[in-house]
Formats: sequence, structure tokens, C-alpha cells
Amino acid sequence: MLNLEKSKNLYKRALECISGGVNSPVRAFRAVGGTPIYIERGAGSHITDVDGNQYIDFCCSWGPLILGHAHPVVVEAVYEAAANGTSFGTVHEKEVLLAEKIKSLCPHIEKIRFVSSGTEAVMSAVRLVRGYTGRDKIIKFTGCYHGHSDYLLASAGSGLATLGIPSSAGVPKDFARHTLVLPLDDESAVESAFEKHGDDIAAILIEPIPANNGLLIQRKEYLEFLRRITEKHGSLLIFDEVISGFRVGAGGASEYYGITPDLCTYGKVVGGGLPVGAFGGRGDIMKMLAPEGTVYQAGTLSGNPLAMACGLATLEYLDSNSYWRKLNEKTSKFTDTINKNIKDRPINVASIGSLFWIYFQSNQPIAAEQIDSGGSEKYKELFNKALEAGIYLAPSAYEVGFVSTAHANKELNEAAEKLGSIIRSL
Ligand code: PMP
Repeated sequence: MLNLEKSKNLYKRALECISGGVNSPVRAFRAVGGTPIYIERGAGSHITDVDGNQYIDFCCSWGPLILGHAHPVVVEAVYEAAANGTSFGTVHEKEVLLAEKIKSLCPHIEKIRFVSSGTEAVMSAVRLVRGYTGRDKIIKFTGCYHGHSDYLLASAGSGLATLGIPSSAGVPKDFARHTLVLPLDDESAVESAFEKHGDDIAAILIEPIPANNGLLIQRKEYLEFLRRITEKHGSLLIFDEVISGFRVGAGGASEYYGITPDLCTYGKVVGGGLPVGAFGGRGDIMKMLAPEGTVYQAGTLSGNPLAMACGLATLEYLDSNSYWRKLNEKTSKFTDTINKNIKDRPINVASIGSLFWIYFQSNQPIAAEQIDSGGSEKYKELFNKALEAGIYLAPSAYEVGFVSTAHANKELNEAAEKLGSIIRSL
């Protein structure tokens, strides 16, 4: 049994002063039982908790840490930036450098704007497409999560699914009225929505690689269909690349599938572990933002110098040595090894880029409705056994795993063997 004495004490204190003891719901371990583990430090592929237990980390802060914990290049960039001042509230060079870097990696991003979270990025992009088109309605898909802004919380993935909340209280019906929620992988549902509301649909918003309700890898033809139908009806296509952006490759899912959306939203890797979100794309649309245009959006800490330095160091490092390709290769080796180990079980690992997801059924789901809900109980057992074995997975069956460049092949082989035997024991 793991000794979690200090974590238990901290959680007890947290429950007295922080709502629910946590600053983001899935951290509460409700779906896997037990006490949230208080992390003291991270180094490379590992995290160490306050009781001294060490784990190989496959959560990686839910995605931002593509270089692992405390990568020297990142730490140095952040130290250097901090020494020169943590925030100016005005323009500085690093924001230009990061924007230029993004443009060079993602040619479809003509203009970008930085914010402080993925939620803010998507919320701002949605306001922008509404301003640009003069239309109100947004199509989103069941299981896709786009942050916690009011009108995007309907059927929105892991956090809600984990806690069994169908949709958030506190969202006025009037707001949700403009959000059309459709199942993924269903062309006819989209066609019907356009037949009914075509003139009022501002945009389709989709995670091109849905990774918030399991990993629901879409057909390329389906994404191409979304591109065509939006064009046909004069509405826009937003790819929410908060997870997939700078993760599956330099150009994210847009490059992976060879599809150019009108706007993209980013978060996670683009900040390398500090709070950054961004949205960008077609110049004529981005021009609508204040001060050039009439769509208002702003932020005291937007483009924060520490955050920009961290994101820039991360992207430059990744770009310097084909790290994306190497990372993707070692991830598929890792998941292949687990899959080989468990091939006689109705449990599998799906993966794309350096993302992976363990699912508890034979057929790979590509829409939220296809996920067998019985998997949650099995995941709970898997999660706790993995923890005992020194492997930290995300504390929810609906969350994906992340591999970083700091995960060495040898560590991945060992983790794959261990996970394989744990899964066989379920
Ligand atoms: N969009 C997607 C696709 C996400 O995965 C997330 C976060 N998991 C968000 C938006 C919201 O980002 P944040 O948590 O930084 O607000």
C-alpha cells in the first residue's frame, strides 16, 4: 500500500478552504476513489508526491508538458524572463517572437491573439465568428469539450461525464439555445441542422481530434465534409486544437488531416506549462477584433512575458530536432506493446500522435454514444493498481494519456509491460 499520509492531511485542509478541495473538478479523484495526490516536484517523465512516492507521469499536466517536467531549456527561459519582470501589461518582444514562430509552424494562421487559457481562446473565437458572420448559432458535438464558457458546456466531455453532470447548472436557457449539439461522425445530423438553421449558423466548432471524452478519432472524410458544408452555407469552421495543436505535429490536426479551418484555438502545449491560450486563423476574420474591428476581447495578463517565453522555448525546442516525429514513433511503440500484451482481452489502447486512451471494449469508439459506460469501473481498478505500481494515469476513464519527449524508451517499455499485466489482471 502506498503511504499517502501527507497527501491525505493536505486534502483535509484543502477541503476546509478550497471549494471541493480542488481548483478544477477532475483533480478530486471522485471517479477513481481515494485521495488526490499532492505533487511536490516533477523532473522529466516523473513526478514525486509529498510523501516521497515517485510515479512515471502520463498525465503531464493534462497535455502542456510535451517536453516533460522542468525541462532545462524551459526552466532557463522562464528564469530569464522572470528576472526581467513578470508582467508589463503592454507590448514586448517575446509575444512577437511566439506569434512569428506559430505562423512559421502553421501556415494557415495568418494572425493570432494570445489569451490565458483554452476556455478564453474558444470563448473569444466564438464571439469573433458571431461578429464576423452576424449569425448566432454554433454547432458543437457531444463529448467535445471547449472550456467552461456558458454556451459550450452542453454535453461537454470528461469533467461532466466523470461527475455524471449532464450539463452545468447556472447556464441560462437563452444562452444554450444558440448551441446546437450533434453526435460526432454523423453527416446527416449536420445536414439536417443546416437545412433547418443554415442562415443562422455562424460556425461549426469541433475538436478535430476529440480527446476529452476518450479519444474519438474521426474519419478524415467526415472532417472534409464539415469543411465543405460550412463553405456551402457561408458559415465558418473552427478547429479547437487546445489538445491537438503542437501535439500531434507542428501544424496540429489541421496539418495532420490537410484541412484548413477558418480559425483555430490553442492552449496547453502552446504555453509549455504556463497559462497560455491563443486563437487565430484567417486575417480577414481576425481583423474584426478590437482595436481594428468591433469585436471586443482583452486581457490583463494576455501575452504575459513568462508565459510567452515558456511557450517559445517549448516550440523552438520541439522544432529544432524533429521531436514531433520521434515522440509519435515512441508513443506508437509504447501502445503497440500494451496492445500485444492484452490482445486476448476486450480492452485496447487507441493512439494518435503522442496521445493515447485505454478503452474497455473491442470496437474502437469514434462517437461518445459508442462508449461502453461499464469501462469506468474497470478503469478505477486500473488507475489504482497503476498508482501502486508507480504509474500516474489521469484520474478519469474519459481522459487521454500524454507521452512527452522526456519519457525514455526504456521507461516506456517497462510501463507498457506493467500496464499490460495490470490490464490482464482486471
Ligand atoms: N478546448 C479543449 C479541446 C480542451 O481540451 C480544453 C481543456 N481540456 C479546453 C478547450 C479548455 O482549456 P482550459 O482548461 O485551458 O481552459
